[in-house]
Amino acid sequence: MQTLRNASVPSAMMGRPGGGIERVDIVIGDDGIVASIAPHAAGPGRDLDGGLVLPALVDIHTHLDKGHIWPRRPNEDGTWENALIGSIADSVERWSTADVERRMDFALRCAYAHGTAAIRTHIESTPPQHDVSWAVFEAMRERWAGRVELQAVSLVGPDTLLDKPALKAVAERVAQAGGLIGGAVRTFPRSREAMHAVIEAAGNAGADIDIHADEIMDPASNVLLSLAEAVIETGYKGRVLAGHCCALAVQDEATQQRTIETVARAGVAVVSLPLCNIYLMDRNAAGGVTPTRRGVTLIHELRAAGVPVAIASDNTRDPFYAYGDLDALEVLREGARILHFDHPQAGAWQWARSIAGDAAAIANFDYAAEIRIGAPADLLLFRARNWTELLSRPQADREVLRNGVGIDTTLPDYRELDDLMES
Ligand SMILES: [Zn+2]
Repeated sequence: MQTLRNASVPSAMMGRPGGGIERVDIVIGDDGIVASIAPHAAGPGRDLDGGLVLPALVDIHTHLDKGHIWPRRPNEDGTWENALIGSIADSVERWSTADVERRMDFALRCAYAHGTAAIRTHIESTPPQHDVSWAVFEAMRERWAGRVELQAVSLVGPDTLLDKPALKAVAERVAQAGGLIGGAVRTFPRSREAMHAVIEAAGNAGADIDIHADEIMDPASNVLLSLAEAVIETGYKGRVLAGHCCALAVQDEATQQRTIETVARAGVAVVSLPLCNIYLMDRNAAGGVTPTRRGVTLIHELRAAGVPVAIASDNTRDPFYAYGDLDALEVLREGARILHFDHPQAGAWQWARSIAGDAAAIANFDYAAEIRIGAPADLLLFRARNWTELLSRPQADREVLRNGVGIDTTLPDYRELDDLMES
């Protein structure tokens, strides 16, 4: 048994209302489970001197299969269009079992060392890639069980969603692996049809849905609305998450209101990807133009309407995003700035749940990402004592406890992947 004494824990991270920070003592049993959380009092144990303790974090939108290909497949102009072209070319030419497996494992080691306990990844699944990558995912899920809880979603383009035999083949592989059905659609005249196809495939497979919707600053892109309407029309009962939804931010107010209201009524959740989208959106291919639009969706308005919302990493070191290391705390730090989670300050810690408990609930992970009695002591320990100290530094010296035991937080070396990057 061990006691973490004098810890600062945000009420929100214990599943309690309010925006404050409580000073508590956390007792962890020899089984690695939190045995008690009590107001701080003097006594034996390790004194954290008011250091923050947060639950290990959750990342519900990533691309583990694409990660770290940047050195061999850089994006020449930083646009979404070039990212897609480069990414497809790389998958066709290079994504063998060994290639995907080594990059995926590298990415998972980064996430684990940073203190992430649950990850949902999209898996490029355009046949025949689905056969290779889903087998690797299943192997990774088994290898990482007990350290990082993994979920996967099939990712295909709109043409595959409308190609019945192809979508059926993908959905069957997904069902076999217990995954989710997804796809990426933006500014597409048949978006309504594509969303109905996704729902039908998910219904047949008994799977939940996770769609890349409207990742474009085009007010005419209406995939989010089409998805929500299709959920209502079909009475689909599974969980539905929509990622990106960038177009919503540039639509007229009447369209925004109608979409938000429909999304809320359909029970669709939304995840914003602030780092990746600030990189890709509003970028001019020729350069020399200052971006003025942030590329994030209307996350405050969605939440106010009752829509469950989250933020997540998205891509890491691939043509869609030149940076990133699957550090969910970085996503919170930058997301808080980009999305204005910080004021009013009383609401900031509830917003921090968008990379913790709220995200875990949307994905329905076993891991709940809350510090509570009876939960595993999967904890991040900081010297920082409050919001400004936490978000002003990278917190590279954070301690990560898993089941109450400190893990090695050394990050893997990029040199490990050098041989995969040769052209
Ligand atoms: Zn994505």
